[in-house]
Amino acid sequence: MRYHNITKADMLNGEGLRVVLWTSGCSHHCPGCQNPITWDANDGLEFDDNAKKEIFQELEHDWCSGLTLSGGDPLFCSNRKDISKLVLEVKKKYPDKTIWLYTGYCWNELLKLSKEDKDIDTILKNIDVLLDGRFVLKLASEKIHYVGSSNQRIIDVKESIKKNKEILYIDNDKVLEGVEV
Ligand code: SF4
Repeated sequence: MRYHNITKADMLNGEGLRVVLWTSGCSHHCPGCQNPITWDANDGLEFDDNAKKEIFQELEHDWCSGLTLSGGDPLFCSNRKDISKLVLEVKKKYPDKTIWLYTGYCWNELLKLSKEDKDIDTILKNIDVLLDGRFVLKLASEKIHYVGSSNQRIIDVKESIKKNKEILYIDNDKVLEGVEV
């Protein structure tokens, strides 16, 4: 896996102050994407032990709420194995920190994929929040929380798996209606 950046004390990509890994590689190619530079999986730096150490050093801080995986798409085919190893390691070392993951895949697509792809299955079982779906320019909004367009949902993964139905962590439809969430 390759990546473009590791950002620290990030307040825009999940709750609290987070460390964010910006992976390389995305096959969705959404019109209006803000990060087309990340589409090429061969671009960027190799995700090696030093990069992992950089993330772990951030997670050591009490003020760091957790890790956000973004990109690109962390679930781009060639990223899945390394992301699955990373989420397992983070959950083992830092059980109190949350893992948020942005992807262009939708929840239902991932549930189907998880039946054939062990890495997707492992990832879903070890992350806390999934921000799903492609960016849709005509649904773009600056009012909603943490995602770019209103079709993208913020899913509570653990509750959704437990209840076997999609449970939102934050409901941006309510935010757009002016209801506090
Ligand atoms: S899924 Fe995300 S990174 Fe990929 S093209 Fe769409 S907006 Fe860009």
